[in-house]
Amino acid sequence: MSIPFQTLPSAHPKSDAERTACLANPGFGQFFTDHMVSIDWDTEQQWHNAQVHAYGPLTLDPAASVLHYGQEIFEGLKAFRHADGSIWSFRPEANGERLQRSARRLALPELPVDTFVESIRQLVKTDAAWVPSGGESSLYLRPFMIANEAFLGVRAAQKAAYYVIASPAGAYFKGGVKPVSIWLSRDYSRAGRGGTGAAKCGGNYAASLLPQKEASANGCAQVLFLDGEQGKYIEELGGMNVFLVKRDGSVITPELSGSILEGITRLSVIQLLRDRGVSITERRIDVQEWIDGVASGDIVETFACGTAASISPIGVLKGKDFCVGNADAAPGELTMSIRAELLDIQYGRKPDVHGWLTRLV
Ligand SMILES: *Cc1c(COP(=O)(O)O)cnc(C)c1O
Repeated sequence: MSIPFQTLPSAHPKSDAERTACLANPGFGQFFTDHMVSIDWDTEQQWHNAQVHAYGPLTLDPAASVLHYGQEIFEGLKAFRHADGSIWSFRPEANGERLQRSARRLALPELPVDTFVESIRQLVKTDAAWVPSGGESSLYLRPFMIANEAFLGVRAAQKAAYYVIASPAGAYFKGGVKPVSIWLSRDYSRAGRGGTGAAKCGGNYAASLLPQKEASANGCAQVLFLDGEQGKYIEELGGMNVFLVKRDGSVITPELSGSILEGITRLSVIQLLRDRGVSITERRIDVQEWIDGVASGDIVETFACGTAASISPIGVLKGKDFCVGNADAAPGELTMSIRAELLDIQYGRKPDVHGWLTRLV
């Protein structure tokens, strides 16, 4: 059972007109709702002081350990408005369980999963008017946890805080789904053996930003990272997992290596493919198999998946000395039909046979 929440309504919520203006063109991650959740933790009281209160700046001691040693983890999930006005989230317990695994790796306290799900419900209930409707819009939820003990000694912090903020999100692809170009990073990896690659932590993203700049400079939207040890096997993009579709209709995706983040979209795509009877194999994939396969026609579609963008077709894979694929090709058929199926489930247009949806409001 979740710990109890106290709600302290904001004294300065946005007006209806201001909110409507934000929702008319939300983009991604630029507007925030009127409220947020915070829960405190320390070794004595454990989790306590759960509140929904006005969105606003945090007060942190400059010695707070998160600022020095990067003890931070986060989650990302969405609330979807269905045609009847009800609001649902997709597999939130899976996010709660993953936050616990991330917490373990970063030596942070584990938030009980029911308190995690309740924190989402409390915030979405309070800010329900911020959940957009129509198209592929949603309310993006960003739970996160930081170590906030004022202590410069290097050890697991004895004080931490968990927060949830929410941000309306428009369709990721405006004006239709378009294949993205991906940059193969040979000089940098995002995670190594025994490192934090499987945890959802800010540090992994910090490590991905320099190669991300390299990708942008080469006209690519995202980076494909290889395994840290041999620099040979496909791991994932900076924030999305990848799938390759072969000419014979079978699908392959990198097996979880300990340094790959276990995406909930990835898990769901694997299940949807199995439901269709598609052969889906999780295994090590040499990046050369991708490059040669696209060139020879053995690989006919590639796509990336994650909560923010759902499923993105990949048009081009590019590196310092090669470029395969076609930026102008239409998105693949399987890619688009799995994408449609996933969105149909999330928006309540298709039966939720796996019980993936949780009603919030
Ligand atoms: C969050 C994330 C993903 C995608 O996970 P979803 O649960 O599908 O959103 C993939 N890779 C990395 C590195 C991530 O941080």
